Formats: sequence, C-alpha cells, structure tokens
Amino acid sequence: MGNPTRRAVIAGSAGLISALGAFRSTILAADMDPKHMKDPVIIEVALNGAAPIPNNPNVPRTPREVTEDALECIAAGASIIHSHTNDPVVGGGTGRHDPAPLIDAWAPVLDKHPDVLFYPTMQGGGRETTITDRASHMQTLIDEGLMRFALIDMGTTNVSVLGIDGLPVKTDAVFINTAADAHYMFDFCARNRVGASIGCIEPGYARTVMAFSRVGKVPQGSMFRLMFGGPSTLVGLPATEAALDVFLGMIKEAGLPWNVAVTGGNVFDNRFARLALERGGHLRVGLEDYRSTDGPRNAELVERATKLAAELGRPVATPAETAEILGLPRVQPPEAKSPGERQHP
Ligand SMILES: [Zn+2]
Repeated sequence: MGNPTRRAVIAGSAGLISALGAFRSTILAADMDPKHMKDPVIIEVALNGAAPIPNNPNVPRTPREVTEDALECIAAGASIIHSHTNDPVVGGGTGRHDPAPLIDAWAPVLDKHPDVLFYPTMQGGGRETTITDRASHMQTLIDEGLMRFALIDMGTTNVSVLGIDGLPVKTDAVFINTAADAHYMFDFCARNRVGASIGCIEPGYARTVMAFSRVGKVPQGSMFRLMFGGPSTLVGLPATEAALDVFLGMIKEAGLPWNVAVTGGNVFDNRFARLALERGGHLRVGLEDYRSTDGPRNAELVERATKLAAELGRPVATPAETAEILGLPRVQPPEAKSPGERQHP
C-alpha cells in the first residue's frame, strides 16, 4: 500500500507532472536522429552468462528458472533472448554444449511466444575442439524447430578481468574464433536458413564481417552485436560516443541492424543506451553483461530499456516485428522437418 497523503499529492499535481513530462520528452528527444524517430527498438536480454554472478541471486541458472525469467522479460518487451547453461564456455569443456537444458528451458516459452528468438552461446574453441562440435548444439536446436537466430562470435579474445590489485587476473584463458571458424559459421547459418547475432568485441572483428558482407555472405536475418567493455573488463572499446562512431563508420555499408551491449558494466551508464537509440540502434541488456552494486532482475533491465525507448519516441518491437526488421527467413530447412514436428511460422 502506498502512502495515501503522497498519493493524493501526486494525483493533485497530475496535470503539472504530465506537462513537465511532455517538456522533458521534447528535451530528451532533441538529439534523436529524425529518420529513426518511429523505428521500433529490438530489445535483447542476455539472461545469465557462463557462471554464477556474485551478489545477485536473480540470475537464472536452471532450465525452469530460465523459462520463468524469459517469460517475465518478454512481458516487459524483450524479443531476443540469449541464455547459457552451466556448461563451461572457456576451459574445461569438450567443445560441445549439451542442448538438453536449452530445449527444456526454451520449449515452454516458444509454445507461448513462437516468434521470440532464442540463441545460445558456444564453447571457446580450444586447440582440442572443432567448430563442428562447437556448433553441434545449435544444429540440434534448429532441427528441433527451437532456433532460427544463431550465434557467430568473431575473432579471438583474451579472457581476463581486473583483479583487486588493479592488474589483469593472471590467466591463459582465451576465447578462440579463427577465420576458418567464421567461414564455417557463415556457411552454417546460410545452409540452415537462420540469421545470426554477429558478435564484435574488437573493431577488427567488424572488418572481418564486412569482408563477408561485401561478397554477399552474411546470412539473411542477421544483426551486428557491438560489444563494448565496461569498467570490470579489459576487452573491447569503452562505451563512449567516439567508440560507437568507430564501429558505425565501419559497418554502415552493410546496412544491417545493430545493437549495443556493455559487458562488465551497465549499458545505461553515461547515456550510452540513449545514444545507441538516437542513432537508430537496438539494445542488449541483461545480467550476463550487467555489473553494478545493485542486483536487479532481468525484467527490470528490460523495463528500463522499454522506458528509454518510449522517452525517445521509439516503439518497442514485438517478436514478430523483430523477425521482420531482421528479415529472417521464414522457412525451416526441409531436411530438418517431418510432419508433426514443432514448426515456427
Ligand atoms: Zn553469453
């Protein structure tokens, strides 16, 4: 129950508040590029990441928790959902992710919201792994009719964070994606007629994508995922206007949709999310990336994105609109389907 006196004051000044709200919206939308004013915003949420995150019990880990969290996020405006299982991503793995927990988590959500796009992660390509193994769970998920938007991570990245001594934590962990892996994944998506979230942590990765784009090899239905580094990470460009401009200048010619994510930070800090929306981009939020002193739920971060889009006059894309904006192929590969199997529209 709210405080009745306070509620009365708020009700009594509703006219003033609404006038101030309109004024504020005008000011806030002043930097909005007019050609993107009405473009729907695709909200992606990265639910959990590879490992439990300290100090936040709201990170979903079991399939059931992922299902429930995803449903909450969809209700709040998310149309793309990225989720991990407890399989390791870098080090200690076999190269293969078990698709079973992903099937258990995603299927009940897709029964209710068949247009929502889920995509998983993949293991980090140690010397002992093969790209065929690393993508095998995605093949299963596509064949099961649960996935029409895959993951392509470009380039090889050292995996470390800032230690308490202010230095990078001493580790040999590397997330390996070779040029041959990129070829495999672009072909994999084209063969399966799925789009992809193409992750670029460093600017050179975007150059590689552009090489594929120039020869018409980016799978239909794809988008750039521009990954910036928050304060606790040591990879990627910082989340600044200058850094965003570096990427946008490089990828413009491809004409693909793009979103921004800030790993190890908060995409809403320093007006970065706002800037991306003003430039016509889309947003990735979620507890995989988020690091701050508070411990929100994923749906609260999605709500924050929805609110920001509204302030800037951009509607939030429904799952069906998201598929349309991406230009996703609508037909599943014929060899993957037999009558009676799960079908997406
Ligand atoms: Zn992830």
